Amino acid sequence: MSRVAYVNGRYLPHGEAMVHIEDRGFQFADAVYEVWAVLDGRLTDAEGHLARLERSLSELRIGWPRSRAALLTVVRETVRRNRIRDGLAYLQVTRGVARRDHPFPSPAPQPTVVVTAKALDLGAMEAKADKGVTVISQPDQRWGRCDIKTVSLLPNVLAKQAAREAGAYEAWLIDQDGLVTEGASTNAWIVDANGALRTRDTGANILRGITRATLIELAREIQIRVDERPFSLEEAKTAREAFLTAASAFVTPITAIDGVLVGDGRPGPVTRRLRALYLDHARRNAW
Ligand code: PLP
Repeated sequence: MSRVAYVNGRYLPHGEAMVHIEDRGFQFADAVYEVWAVLDGRLTDAEGHLARLERSLSELRIGWPRSRAALLTVVRETVRRNRIRDGLAYLQVTRGVARRDHPFPSPAPQPTVVVTAKALDLGAMEAKADKGVTVISQPDQRWGRCDIKTVSLLPNVLAKQAAREAGAYEAWLIDQDGLVTEGASTNAWIVDANGALRTRDTGANILRGITRATLIELAREIQIRVDERPFSLEEAKTAREAFLTAASAFVTPITAIDGVLVGDGRPGPVTRRLRALYLDHARRNAW
């Protein structure tokens, strides 16, 4: 089936969906985005992603292009038109089109809105999670506002490429103190010797992952302690378990970091339980 994309009010064949060459998203990465997991044709953590989009737009002083409800309707309609059962929905909002000049254009142009959706093979994702994935470490070379979900992702792209070339799934980014910030496109977690979860606090320079936030709540509901505190690469290598979270990966166990096995090198019981818990919650609350 041919894919459909939404661009500024129109649903178009994917190959014909275009934006202007002077769009500020293209020229300056002056744009924000969101990604929802789609399960059974419905959006997971729908409100959380929408709330983060609102914050990203407001931090960059880009106006809401449509009402929240209208925007969500477009995302859902794009999922429907692409007949996605399980997959990802992507929304990008740029500051719009203007003659190329660094300062914000005045008057503000109409923001550009693009929505796409793609199918994922949930069975293959499950198989990957059953086996676990590996990560490598890379220096965190990003800017100081990683809490804003901008499309300015070049350091993330380079780190992810390094991971792929090393045969790993993800790169964990390491700050100047040797502490893990997060993955190139995922949040980073460990299970410590006491069985408590550790993930870096969001006061630091990381993305406030929606999967992360939901999982913290779910873990606490079943009396698993969560410490929002940084951990070092060394602590991660000697942790009982390690895992990552993202809309694109849910909760995925990590079996090795820089070639060093985590625990016995197999997905641990806490991570497996959390993945099941998250997926169950996500499915029941999708809409
Ligand atoms: N960290 C980074 C840098 C990301 O790009 C992402 C997702 O794209 C995440 C964390 C996970 O966030 P979420 O759980 O909202 O998908």
